[in-house]
Amino acid sequence: MSVTGIDRSVTGIVVFDIDGVLADGEHREHFLASRPKDWTSFFAFLCDDEPIERGIECLRALMVTHDCVLLSGRPERTRIATLAWLAACGVGQLPVYLRPDRDYRPAPQFKAEVLAALGGPGAVGLVIDDDERVVAALMAAGYPVEHFTR
Ligand SMILES: [Mg+2]
Repeated sequence: MSVTGIDRSVTGIVVFDIDGVLADGEHREHFLASRPKDWTSFFAFLCDDEPIERGIECLRALMVTHDCVLLSGRPERTRIATLAWLAACGVGQLPVYLRPDRDYRPAPQFKAEVLAALGGPGAVGLVIDDDERVVAALMAAGYPVEHFTR
């Protein structure tokens, strides 16, 4: 099953990552190439991300028939900018789970915790994420995961 060929037989909550699936933040990555990494600027410019059309289209299609939520390792302090960006893409009405500010755990750990709170593998029908570490960890935890690639 691939994102381009949406499998509508999925039952349960569909969980979308944001960065690398819906939003293209490549233009911000140079802020993390400096030492120390400039996280403030990295997150300040997320409003300029280009939408990843294939991911956005997949979400728009699936949200008609499924409970969709967004799960991102972005910190909570980016919530207002993130919601504005999502609204501009026409996907602003969904629950959005962001990493608490000052939560520095690895993304797979944070995401697994949120998915467990959503009901675990029995409630989550599909997770779509571009980070191979997240994909591997969540698959090992029993979740159906689609590795989104550009
Ligand atoms: Mg990502």
